[in-house]
Amino acid sequence: MEHDAKGLGIVIRTENARESDRISTIFSPSLGIIKAICYGARKSAKSIRAPLYTEGTFSLEKSIRSGRWSIRDIDVIATHDYLSADLERNMAASLFSDLVITSRTADPGMYRLYTEALDLLEDTDAESVAIAFIVHFLSAEGLSGDYLSCPVCLRPYREDEVLGFSSVEGVPVCSECDNMGSSLILPPNARRFVRRTLELDIEEAVQLSVSAMQRHRIFRYFLRLLRISFPGKLRSIESGIWDFGKEMQ
Ligand SMILES: [Zn+2]
Repeated sequence: MEHDAKGLGIVIRTENARESDRISTIFSPSLGIIKAICYGARKSAKSIRAPLYTEGTFSLEKSIRSGRWSIRDIDVIATHDYLSADLERNMAASLFSDLVITSRTADPGMYRLYTEALDLLEDTDAESVAIAFIVHFLSAEGLSGDYLSCPVCLRPYREDEVLGFSSVEGVPVCSECDNMGSSLILPPNARRFVRRTLELDIEEAVQLSVSAMQRHRIFRYFLRLLRISFPGKLRSIESGIWDFGKEMQ
């Protein structure tokens, strides 16, 4: 068993631990998702701090006695300070963290998606970034179809078709395969927008032209979808800061 590790990573969640310690969850494309302790982080100015969304090269050490990782050093690349200044951006970033932690997907593709989304949050509308991240995340996890044909019955969607949702498969489906009584629907224009988002890299996808109202509806659609797909698992959604009115219907 290795007792030292070094690798690129980013702090995607922080929690207070006993006494003055903090636990940082680090997402690393080479090391995976690791919880590491920063001893005395809440007290001593000299101790290593790993604030939320710090990206860098992490040097970690594993205690032989407790088997727990701690952070020995960080060569910081970016701090993403702007995320703490704005509630909406902050919530979007914590939703991305929730999704990565829940899926346990820590491959380089997911790392690129996550860090690009955080970078975009600096100067791009948070809902646009969230939609692009969620669409690409669901696709990478095999939790969406291609928005061209129904992933259950494989029938191509009609131009004017309103998609429903299958709670069994956890994916948007055609109207016949819908088992939610049309309570989670994706109208044709929204579907075309989501399909286009999936075809583009997220930097390009956030530039797609869409009205603020349409964007907001699509954003709310995905929040409700995630809540059904990951019941009780996404802290940012369960915290209740976003409300889930039925405005889309
Ligand atoms: Zn179908």
